[in-house]
Amino acid sequence: MTEEAPPEESSAAPEDFCRMCGWDEERFWEDGWPTNAICACCGSESGIGDMGARPGSWEGVEGLHHFRGWWVGNGAEWYLPKFKPHGWDLLQQLTNIPPAWRTPPPPAVDHAGRIAERTSSGSLGTETVCRVCGFTGPLFWDEGVPSGAVCPCCDSESGIDDLGIPGDWQALRLIRSRRGYWVALGAPWADPAARPAGWDVLRQIGDIPPAWR
Ligand SMILES: [Zn+2]
Ligand SMILES: [Zn+2]
Repeated sequence: MTEEAPPEESSAAPEDFCRMCGWDEERFWEDGWPTNAICACCGSESGIGDMGARPGSWEGVEGLHHFRGWWVGNGAEWYLPKFKPHGWDLLQQLTNIPPAWRTPPPPAVDHAGRIAERTSSGSLGTETVCRVCGFTGPLFWDEGVPSGAVCPCCDSESGIDDLGIPGDWQALRLIRSRRGYWVALGAPWADPAARPAGWDVLRQIGDIPPAWR
């Protein structure tokens, strides 16, 4: 037994779920310490990818959303595919993550600040695919200028919620965090009537241009 105090962000309750993806067949935290277990699903290691996270606030869990948004944006590939259950359901698995780690909402958007950020953000020219969720149809960006269209699926507004720079890990954080938060809520549709029958979240996310994943 160590004499050292556990990290402040943790609690003594054991955590048998991955904070990123909700895989729950492993012990990830115990007595306030990471077990350094590697998640068979998303491949993150407890105490590495989730170190410094704190439950209950957006700031505390935003890093988890960022990782999840990156992982899901790239197809939610299993680190150890032999453990992938038949008929695996990503959204169902994410509900294993306790609400304190996944549902605190982001702070209100500073519209003026985001508009100022646009000048240094990137674009692919004309874009009709939502950078956050992959929904296709609306004109989100028109020759490099955001149209202000709001995605009927994930509710992101172009030019406000989807700013980023392709190829820059940190500059893609806004898009990925939003995506990771949205899927952890169950990928709710802003306009439920627009949701097609048999809709599949990962198939749609597969339409996101690689530059925004
Ligand atoms: Zn995981
Ligand atoms: Zn969207």
